[in-house]
Amino acid sequence: MVLSVITPCYNEELVVEETYRRLKEVMAKTGMNYELVFINDGSRDNTYPLLLQLSESDKTVKILNFSRNFGHQCAVTAGINHCTGDLAVIIDADLQDPPEVILDMLEIYRREQANVVYGVRKSREGESWFKLTTAKWFYRILNKLSDVQFPVDTGDFRLIDRKIIDEFNRLHEKNKYIRGLISWMGYKQVPCYYERKERFAGETKYPLRKMLKFASTGLLSFSKKPLKLAIWLGVLSVLVGLIYALVILILKIIHPESFVLGWTSTIFMIIFFGGIQLLTIGVLGEYIGNLFDEAKDRPEYIISEKVNF
Ligand code: UDP
Ligand code: MG
Repeated sequence: MVLSVITPCYNEELVVEETYRRLKEVMAKTGMNYELVFINDGSRDNTYPLLLQLSESDKTVKILNFSRNFGHQCAVTAGINHCTGDLAVIIDADLQDPPEVILDMLEIYRREQANVVYGVRKSREGESWFKLTTAKWFYRILNKLSDVQFPVDTGDFRLIDRKIIDEFNRLHEKNKYIRGLISWMGYKQVPCYYERKERFAGETKYPLRKMLKFASTGLLSFSKKPLKLAIWLGVLSVLVGLIYALVILILKIIHPESFVLGWTSTIFMIIFFGGIQLLTIGVLGEYIGNLFDEAKDRPEYIISEKVNF
């Protein structure tokens, strides 16, 4: 059995060597054949030269070098597409997911005869309050809106077997929400609980902008419910409109003399319904934008160099 370790790296010069060292230690303990697949996602720092150095003395180190930064999900996709293992582990470069947990995952994999062993964060050290709260709510809202159920507090850190890898390689969608897609595949998936650590060095490569994009990809690719927003808001406004019309009618009959009701409620209506219309057009726009991306059918990533493949 060959184990592939898939590690996306974006500006990780401060951590790659330590990650390499820790992964090597763990791989030695598994006693398996293995390959360490590093994807350099267009880093602008020394990440690539450092990886190249490692790959010269160690042929188990394989590199996919992207032509520019394509994003975390594309980097993981490239790793899954190119790995040769019977099993693969997806793990971040920053050591937040401790490599030692791979041993637990392997053990659970063997004991449970599972196809996927996904990491569930028991605790998360060194993350901002904002990130913790938004992540917590995002996963719960996604579950409410989607037809598929996803495990909560779970990232991409997981072990997958060849069946899952092959199925994954058959997927054509470009905007991938990988953790969701793997849950969606079914087969036997079991959790592995672990403590998520603080980043070893450097800072997060997921600023708010990328987090929002990621959340939107997850939501749009697994739920059509936001599209129904327009219908429900429409129903609501018709009801409110009817009730209001009735109130005006009655007032007009009882107090015909004092009847210049007006400016405030008119402005309120214009703002309110203008807002609802823009909001629902925006939701439509998001879905259409996604369709547009898929229709163009551009590759998800471009690899400029492959090393040791
Ligand atoms: N990453 C990447 N491309 C990007 C952003 C991030 O390959 O555009 C990698 C990054 O190097 C790390 C992993 O994805 O190995 C997770 O990123 P990070 O640790 O910054 O995210 P966080 O843990 O803060 O959510
Ligand atoms: Mg991280």
